[in-house]
Amino acid sequence: MFCPFCSHSETKVNDSRLVAEGNQVRRRRECLACGERFTSFESAELMMPRVIKSDGSREPFNEEKLRSGLMRALEKRPVSLEGVEAVLSRIKSALRATGEPEVKSLELGELVMNELRILDEVAYVRFASVYRSFQDIDEFKREIDSMGKNNRKRAAKKPAASQSK
Ligand SMILES: [Zn+2]
Repeated sequence: MFCPFCSHSETKVNDSRLVAEGNQVRRRRECLACGERFTSFESAELMMPRVIKSDGSREPFNEEKLRSGLMRALEKRPVSLEGVEAVLSRIKSALRATGEPEVKSLELGELVMNELRILDEVAYVRFASVYRSFQDIDEFKREIDSMGKNNRKRAAKKPAASQSK
């Protein structure tokens, strides 16, 4: 970490603590050359695994892409931005927690669906119907049916079936 005042490359860490639900480390640093003190925020973003797509190609984990996917699923749903960010944050933690350098996009999709199912059933159905692209439609229908037994019936039943091709 370079000193922002004199660009010296050696700084001393005086204090270190986790912030933002443990996704960032805040460090109080002191420059060994000019003695100025400053705070750095370091996130573990670089440690995010790469995503293996279904065609075998790899791409960096793309938080923006995931966020916009979530927002699309949550369109006009009563879910706050805070709720979305909390979900994103949990997904990222779960990805990092795998300790793997690469994860399959399928696993990422499952993580997202598990979170959405808790957050908002309609969004879950929207996301799942696009994401799974009917690869396991029977299992999906069973899930929809079991969700229908909860009291928010209108959330689920029709969309999944009517979107089948
Ligand atoms: Zn300095």
